[in-house]
Amino acid sequence: MSVAHEEDYQRRVAETGPTRFLPGTSVEIVREVTLAAPPRFAVFDFDGTLSLVREGWPDVMIPMMVEELTATGTSESPGDLTKLVRNFVMQLNGKQTIYQMIRLAEEIKARGGSPRDPLAYKERYHELLMQRIASRRDALRSGATRPQELLVPHTYEALAILKERGVELYLASGTDENYVREEADILGLAPYFGRHIYGAIADHRKFSKQMVIERILRENQVEGGRLLGLGDGYVEIDNIKGAGGTAIAVASDEAGRSGKPDQWKRDRLIGVGADIVIPDFRDFAAVCDYLWRDLA
Ligand SMILES: [Mg+2]
Repeated sequence: MSVAHEEDYQRRVAETGPTRFLPGTSVEIVREVTLAAPPRFAVFDFDGTLSLVREGWPDVMIPMMVEELTATGTSESPGDLTKLVRNFVMQLNGKQTIYQMIRLAEEIKARGGSPRDPLAYKERYHELLMQRIASRRDALRSGATRPQELLVPHTYEALAILKERGVELYLASGTDENYVREEADILGLAPYFGRHIYGAIADHRKFSKQMVIERILRENQVEGGRLLGLGDGYVEIDNIKGAGGTAIAVASDEAGRSGKPDQWKRDRLIGVGADIVIPDFRDFAAVCDYLWRDLA
């Protein structure tokens, strides 16, 4: 079973040729990008891409799900279950959290268990996650921790550079919108995004990153080529490529903030079509110089 699910990770890009780095930087060019017109909109994922407040969330979600699956009496080993869960959790990473819980309920059912409402699993996950991150949120609010310590390095600079270049910034997250707004605010990000902050809502059918992208294109009557998408998850990279935009994978090392790309994220995001990979935003000016190089 775990083998079948290993293949669930749908690699869209079979072979990429040799990649190159922009000289003297950590910016990896997977596919050369030549734009016909300057980017006008940038859509950012939140957790893992900008915010590190929820760093470690998979270490909460995955064991919780393994525990639920073990309770079905399945003969699969904890190791196999962990592999299986990790794969579907990561494949759905970027969608609203409820989709991961819907999948958990399906997996419980497939093993003869009677799942609860996916919302109940989401609530339990959130309680467990809050135990882990409450102290970070409190430390930010009290000023004990500076926002920069819980941001992917050089986040403010990257956002400022894009704004200077006339790019409108959007934030779209699979985390519940009230938490995204609150955490964006305590991290000092709200001024960069203004009212363009979107997250999961109660009726999960009425929100997706795809919808945010489609709305930007429709309301502004622009082509997908004017979009940049930045994220560390599968879904946003896939969505931005589907819309015809440029996908920048942020293969962030969330726990270490080392400036070295997380290889697992890098490989998987290249597999869904990322054009450029960065470990964080330290060389983001070079990314922009590259993208804008032949544009007036
Ligand atoms: Mg993310």
